[in-house]
Amino acid sequence: IDQPTIAFHDGNRIPQVGLGVWRTPNDTAVNAVRVALETGYRHIDTAAIYENEEGVGEGIRASGVARQDIFLTTKLWNSNQGFDSTLAAFDASLKRLGTDYVDLYLIHWPAPQRDRYVDTWKAFIRLKEEGRVRSIGVSNFNPPHIERIVGETGVMPVINQIELHPDFPRKEERAFHQKHGIVTQSWSPLGQGQLLENPVVAGIAGKHGRTPAQVVIRWHIDNGLVVIPKSVTPSRIVENFKAFDFRLDDEDMQTFAGLEKEGHRIGPDPMTATF
Ligand code: NAD
Repeated sequence: IDQPTIAFHDGNRIPQVGLGVWRTPNDTAVNAVRVALETGYRHIDTAAIYENEEGVGEGIRASGVARQDIFLTTKLWNSNQGFDSTLAAFDASLKRLGTDYVDLYLIHWPAPQRDRYVDTWKAFIRLKEEGRVRSIGVSNFNPPHIERIVGETGVMPVINQIELHPDFPRKEERAFHQKHGIVTQSWSPLGQGQLLENPVVAGIAGKHGRTPAQVVIRWHIDNGLVVIPKSVTPSRIVENFKAFDFRLDDEDMQTFAGLEKEGHRIGPDPMTATF
């Protein structure tokens, strides 16, 4: 399936739509990942803390899709931040995934109270130099956290994965990313499913003869974002991938913008999260 990709400043590319697998146990992840890859997805987003890296690895192997054709992301958990502990945690992730490299490794949260994200970033730079990580990025970083790691190392992350949905569009952060050549990736892109119940979204879906999930995913695509909707239900995994053959118009974009006033953060605030 022909699908859009976005270029990183390091020369690599990421498929714009991927499968998220948060809150998916190992046995369920095997099937979800296999179905997604059979459907045409070529990008999977996991994390050490999801405790399903084994299932993701097994799903990849079960799909028969070649490893080099898949863009695989995992994330370093907060308690493993620090230089040596990051290198050890990365080895453990690779072992669980059953692969010898990942396409993208992310610092899951800045965890500013721990104050170890600079040393963690130095370990990420080492992993990229070793070739065991193709691209390095961050998640849930605010602009000052990014400025600090770049100030101390000179290395810009390729991507920042943040909570972002049409009613919580993070315009300031996106402008900052754009200025620095950082790709923005949307987590909880469907508002964890809540947004799909919204009558305004249903209206846009009806206009295009699409489902609410498809028009929300299309909103992310048309905004140049990388989007990782989660589902473990095969029919929804297929549905969420059918968002490439239509576009939203200016009127739709304005209607989506109207949701901003009722929108809010669903997940933790990176500054106050205590995990
Ligand atoms: P999401 O916004 O992707 O919503 C997923 C939920 O929406 C599903 O559980 C289901 O209830 C519903 N849904 C999905 N497709 C549907 C469809 N076609 N029709 C009807 N309902 C549908 O939520 P998410 O899982 O929180 O976020 C996606 C991914 O982002 C995660 O799986 C994970 O990979 C990543 N994530 C990262 C962070 C981070 O800190 N970096 C935090 C949260 C999530």
